[in-house]
Amino acid sequence: VAQGGPHYLAGLNAEQRAAVETTEGPVLVLAGAGTGKTRVLTTRIAHILSLGLAFPSQILAVTFTNKAAREMRQRIGLLVGEQVEGMPWLGTFHSIGVKILRRHAELVGLKSNFTILDTDDQLRLVKQLIQAENLDDKRWPARTFAQMMDGWKNKGLTPDTIPEGDARAFGNGKGRELFRAYQDRLLQLNAADFGDLLLHPIRIFRENSDVLADYHRRFRYILVDEYQDTNVAQYLWLRLLAQRPKTGDAPSPPPNVCCVGDDDQSIYGWRGAEVDNILRFEKDFPGATVIRLERNYRSTAHILGAAAHLIAHNEDRLGKTLFTDTSSPEDERVAVNAGWDSEEEARAVGEEIEQLQRRGHKLNDMAILVRASFQMREFEDRFVTLGLNYRVVGGPRFYERQEIRDAMAYLRCVCQPADDLAFERIVNVPKRGLGDATVRQIHDHARGNGTPMIAAALEMVETEELKPKPRNALRSLVFNLRRWSELLPTTRHTDLAEMILEESGYTEMWQNDRSAEAPGRLENLKELVRSMEEYESLPGFLEHVALVMDTEQNAESDAVSLMTLHSAKGLEFETVFLPGWEEGLFPHQRALDEGGRSGLEEERRLAYVGITRGKKRVKIWFVSNRRIHGLWQSTIPSRFLDELPEAHVEVMEANTSYGGYGGYGASRWDGGASFASGGYRTPGARRAAAAASGGSYGDGWGGGRTREISYEEDGVKAKADRYAQAAG
Ligand code: ATP
Ligand code: MG
Repeated sequence: VAQGGPHYLAGLNAEQRAAVETTEGPVLVLAGAGTGKTRVLTTRIAHILSLGLAFPSQILAVTFTNKAAREMRQRIGLLVGEQVEGMPWLGTFHSIGVKILRRHAELVGLKSNFTILDTDDQLRLVKQLIQAENLDDKRWPARTFAQMMDGWKNKGLTPDTIPEGDARAFGNGKGRELFRAYQDRLLQLNAADFGDLLLHPIRIFRENSDVLADYHRRFRYILVDEYQDTNVAQYLWLRLLAQRPKTGDAPSPPPNVCCVGDDDQSIYGWRGAEVDNILRFEKDFPGATVIRLERNYRSTAHILGAAAHLIAHNEDRLGKTLFTDTSSPEDERVAVNAGWDSEEEARAVGEEIEQLQRRGHKLNDMAILVRASFQMREFEDRFVTLGLNYRVVGGPRFYERQEIRDAMAYLRCVCQPADDLAFERIVNVPKRGLGDATVRQIHDHARGNGTPMIAAALEMVETEELKPKPRNALRSLVFNLRRWSELLPTTRHTDLAEMILEESGYTEMWQNDRSAEAPGRLENLKELVRSMEEYESLPGFLEHVALVMDTEQNAESDAVSLMTLHSAKGLEFETVFLPGWEEGLFPHQRALDEGGRSGLEEERRLAYVGITRGKKRVKIWFVSNRRIHGLWQSTIPSRFLDELPEAHVEVMEANTSYGGYGGYGASRWDGGASFASGGYRTPGARRAAAAASGGSYGDGWGGGRTREISYEEDGVKAKADRYAQAAG
């Protein structure tokens, strides 16, 4: 530890201190998880401010999420007091981008009060443009094109610069025209989409050297956290702001830019992030000081050892060492637990949390990190049953998700035909040509008669009140709703729910959706139907959800955090639970299918991020049976489990109420090591492996369980194929 100097420097190690004190010139801090990268950034800002090297308004500091920005502001505040309030340029790429764009909107043909388009607006607009080109919007879906434009924008491309092949790939070769028409239309509407918040400023900087020079004078210091996850557009934006132009013969002055990152934590490749930005840094900023931090201050030696061993299986990495000084013989090894199914997983995790709580641990210090959002449902339900406070970080709670609310609205319409709010929610979802005007007509009719909207609609479709097109669409919808209601007493509620989602076209809407979120939404819908099994009837289930939704999410109170691995980046907790370590879920099948080896490596980095969130305790779970894509499947443990070093791991005796089951997980997992050597396995091989390692639960494992498990090879395959198609 370096000695002397101001109080905020005390306690930093020599490398950290160098990163803080090298304020002039480009600095790249490349270091593993928990080595104090974020702490270096905050301390560096404090240092710059207290030396008076810059005013707070002259520091540009970019973080990955708004939450991270808030935390950084807080930490700086602790170091320098109220000076932090004068830092307008601390935020995410988007929040800073929008601020810059508002100041110079007229330079790209916008007014400063431009609106930021939401996804719905964007899709409506794209669809109009596709139709205006006389293209069939079924064959050329708006969502696909929106997704394509998003990809281009992440790469910093404009209608003029997209590759010819890309341009030809959509709409009978009209990709480029459509992109251009879209951008023109946005200008007419005085609107910008998310990508534009960076692309417009890039253009402004390029075309207006005086504006850029102004920012060069303004931003004396530039700092970027989570640098490994920047995409090309963000990189270009940053480089423009950082690189000063040459004046005369003199070389351009080196910029005071400091980026911190960890290539092993790059987990947004699927959104266009490029780890190569790390390599480019030294090229674009010659003479950069590269600092490596190797001491981890966050985790125990066991946690670190497990994480390091796992990530060493990636080929595509810069490589680095990590060590910790803070280990003690009492440190717990990384625990690997086996469970029967996800319900047991949630129950056991709930029990462990309660035990920790009884031993004096705070809920705030515990987190459950899942690979896919659908996994949250089981935990949320369990916590509500236990009366355990929880909060979902970085996204809505399961039952608050758009697709779940939509699906629930359908179910409410069927169970409670007077529920006008539910009806209004789904009347035009998926789009069936029942726009606002029609809805208003139905509304007026209902008001006039004092009946619910569905009843009003049933009357209206028998009259001439509506034009034929909306009338037919409405008739088909309300007849369906009535028919489903009539089936209520005689049909199994889960079957009915599935039928409703299918026949209404709702599932199909997401199957046709090419956005990155769509497959996750389909998973959530399956999980919704699955969760109903635990209830006798649809009304019973609806009541349960209403109760769950009623529990408050109080930011102040002590609560377990529940979030995806992606949103856990940069955070830390005493105890971390990592459920669902099974092949197909984690690594996720989609990542393997679409990304091949690099997909697998990104999944492994995600596992590394997960483990390294833990300070004291990491508890991994896998189960033998999980319902994936709506069908029970015998699962096999994640290959990542085989990549954990024995010395740092403890395989837990299964703590379960099902007789004869204890030890099964351990032996199975050990057995797993023998077939996990060959890298990527095909789904068929994995199923064979599952069967070979005792995956046939007919023989005793299921003893005493009443739940039916259907596992039909063909059925699974058919579903999986259909799912894969849907996932594109
Ligand atoms: P990640 O890669 O996960 O974002 P990071 O490198 O940003 O991690 P930090 O979050 O800055 O790491 O630090 C991890 C933990 O270690 C924090 O609790 C931080 O306060 C602590 N820490 C960092 N440096 C020191 C130090 N010199 N002395 C004591 N604690 C430290
Ligand atoms: Mg960090």
